[in-house]
Amino acid sequence: MSSEPPPMTRPPPSDPSAPHGVVLKGIAGSPGVAVGPALVVGDTKTAYTRRHISSTQIEAEVARLAQAVTDAKRHVREVSASLPPGPLETNAILDAYLTMIGDPMLIERVEKKIRDEKKCAEWAVAQACDEIAKLFLPSELGERDAYIAERRHDIEFVCDRLLRELTGDTKLIVPRLDQPMVVVARDLSPADTAGMVREPVIAFITEIGTRTSHTAIMARALEIPAVVGAADALSMIRTGDTVIVDGLRGQVVVNPNDLTIGDARGRGARHLAFARGLLSARNQPCVTRDGEAVCLKANVELPAEAILALDHGAEGIGLYRTEFIYIDRTTMPTEDEQYELYRAVVEAVAPRPVTLRTFDIGGDKFASSFQLPAEMNPALGLRAVRLALSRPDVFLTQLRAMIRASAHGDLRIMIPMVASVQELREVRKLLDQAIFEVDAAGHPRLAHISLGIMIEVPSAVVMADVLAQEAEFFSIGTNDLIQYTLAIDRGNRSMAPLASPFHPAILRMIRQVVRAAAEHNVPTALCGAMASDPLAAVLLVGLGLRELSMEAAAIPEIKEAVRRVTTADCERAAETALKLDTAEAVEELVAGTFAPSLYDLLTGNDDDAPYEQETSPQGRETLPDA
Ligand code: PEP
Ligand code: MG
Repeated sequence: MSSEPPPMTRPPPSDPSAPHGVVLKGIAGSPGVAVGPALVVGDTKTAYTRRHISSTQIEAEVARLAQAVTDAKRHVREVSASLPPGPLETNAILDAYLTMIGDPMLIERVEKKIRDEKKCAEWAVAQACDEIAKLFLPSELGERDAYIAERRHDIEFVCDRLLRELTGDTKLIVPRLDQPMVVVARDLSPADTAGMVREPVIAFITEIGTRTSHTAIMARALEIPAVVGAADALSMIRTGDTVIVDGLRGQVVVNPNDLTIGDARGRGARHLAFARGLLSARNQPCVTRDGEAVCLKANVELPAEAILALDHGAEGIGLYRTEFIYIDRTTMPTEDEQYELYRAVVEAVAPRPVTLRTFDIGGDKFASSFQLPAEMNPALGLRAVRLALSRPDVFLTQLRAMIRASAHGDLRIMIPMVASVQELREVRKLLDQAIFEVDAAGHPRLAHISLGIMIEVPSAVVMADVLAQEAEFFSIGTNDLIQYTLAIDRGNRSMAPLASPFHPAILRMIRQVVRAAAEHNVPTALCGAMASDPLAAVLLVGLGLRELSMEAAAIPEIKEAVRRVTTADCERAAETALKLDTAEAVEELVAGTFAPSLYDLLTGNDDDAPYEQETSPQGRETLPDA
């Protein structure tokens, strides 16, 4: 071990040069830097009166609810129609809200409260939404928090929209502005965010939200810089204060001096030029400098995200986490309902391939519809394929829906958490049975549906050569593989620094899987979060992977990273890394080798790059300093 500073390490994600003013830390919701006067807007929650109704008022109250549903849908459609052409994902998110507003599960629940509990429509809506939102309370801090918080946010939005219609409170929360301003709010619904394009809103700051919240996705689509999750924003900022919204660093500066403002404006201009360069390259082929193709696909959880994925240049969906269909409800999704969802994704992406993963429920992904018993150690309990095999009725329903959706495009099926070949065999038997049933019902389907497995349990790595004889493809799930190999709970934030994808044990396992797969001609991808880190991605290329699947937003920069390196450099780095003994040593090696040419991708900006920036292979020019 050496006490010498490393020759080159990964650049820090944010390196603010002591800004002048009050600095608030938040989450980088949408990139870009904006400077302007603040407009603090109130809480978006709608007030209503709780009223008991008489039996004779029930039908009128149910009719009010129906009218509110119609009006809320019309409102969302109007917002959607008012958007400028371009950001497809914005409309996709609003479409998803349209579906949620009319969701029979929600409406039935509200109606029941009106009829059985004799509550007025507002009260019934608020209570029903509250009950559904409670299903999304995170049990502990973890990676899933962002997703769960986002689903809760969706439900809150739907509830608020219905309440606004019922109470007649349909005013925009952002008043008409006469000068460009930065909106500061506790929270903004995606529709409110979308509405901002008609107002001169140059950025926004919210107290709650995450990088993956739909509001942040909207902001990115509309190219409005945003900092979300800035905890003290409402108490620290007054209307009229000058604020810098730094959506790159996830930082807000209140009342900065001229020097800090000038610095921020310069960085904003440089980022804009940088981002334009990246996106313009998104449809370029993803090939290394020495001509090796690397296929980049997207991980999605909602049909609406499939469109977002294409917009970012995904060559298909490498992982569709279907478990999220089960978690916001108390009843199981039907075959027809699932078929429609899978079909929507497959059709949106066709002719590109879609890999549907069968439900991975259990562990940190609970589902009230399964009514699972509490377990001492859920990550090691009845989860994923084990749960599927213990509930063949539910599993067959999902398989039939998937098989039927295969009639509409290139669809594959993937099994999560396979720990032994026996599980694969049992799934294959059930798949054959489901195919028989789909045929018997006269539904069309693909002639052959590939059945692959996730490699995310250490035993699957060890047995990869055996599994490769029966699985038609592999996808390495490093999120769980790291958890189970290093014995670190993936949801435990305080342990997160130890759960490094650069740990030599993880690299050796990936190498072992890639080799076993190659011997048996089994196509192998990697779909863990590791793939969306530029340094890890090029190392994975060196380890022999030629397909990576990741969150859609990361695709343009990973593509750019791949296009700047050679396979020979990646392989050399991987060979050396495999001989090192610690994660730190591996990361240092990879950063030392690649950070100089990937510096801007690692920091999200050409800012302060201490290296000579080469002209990238597709000819993107070095950006001039602002
Ligand atoms: C993984 O474990 O790496 C993976 C991609 O699956 P999930 O994150 O859904 O468990
Ligand atoms: Mg997993």
